[in-house]
Amino acid sequence: MARLLFTARQFGSLADPINQKTNTELADLIGKPVQFMHQTHSNNLHLISTIETAKEDTDSLITDNKDLALAVRVADCIPLLLYSKNLVAAVHVGRKGLLNEVASKTVAKMKSLGAEKIYGLAGPHICGNCYEVGTQMAEEIYRTHPATKGKKDHLNLFSGLKEQLQDITLENIDICTKENIHYFSYRAAAEAGRQVGVISL
Ligand SMILES: [Zn+2]
Repeated sequence: MARLLFTARQFGSLADPINQKTNTELADLIGKPVQFMHQTHSNNLHLISTIETAKEDTDSLITDNKDLALAVRVADCIPLLLYSKNLVAAVHVGRKGLLNEVASKTVAKMKSLGAEKIYGLAGPHICGNCYEVGTQMAEEIYRTHPATKGKKDHLNLFSGLKEQLQDITLENIDICTKENIHYFSYRAAAEAGRQVGVISL
């Protein structure tokens, strides 16, 4: 059974993927060493078999090794944790990640590695009532990702993700980082702090 964990502001910021102190505290909390990545809003994914230095230019990590955990750092983007009987994944899904389909690429990879039933949990992220973008950008994204449409000029990232991942069981923890002071939010405060989603088998 997979173990899933989301940190909040109280834990401290995990903005730096190679910060030894916070990384050690996180490893202590989940009881395993934690693999990080240098996220770039890409759709690059890596299958991890042992702990390495933080993966460059990566927004999705997958492992079948139950002796390590995977982390995704976020402020307002979705920290998406995926799991099946034998595999887990941590995925960074913001607006760009929704458009480049990093999540569905990860699900496809998990299936190719033998995953059958896949579950997903979207951690704290900015909600559809709070994520405002320019009118032109909103209209462009509504055309290709109609589920993101709700409040005018706002994007509902989770609805867009749900539309993209129809073949898995996906739930939303339903905490908005912009509205909830217990979470770091770039949009709410232009702050550099990051919380993490962590998963292990
Ligand atoms: Zn909100």
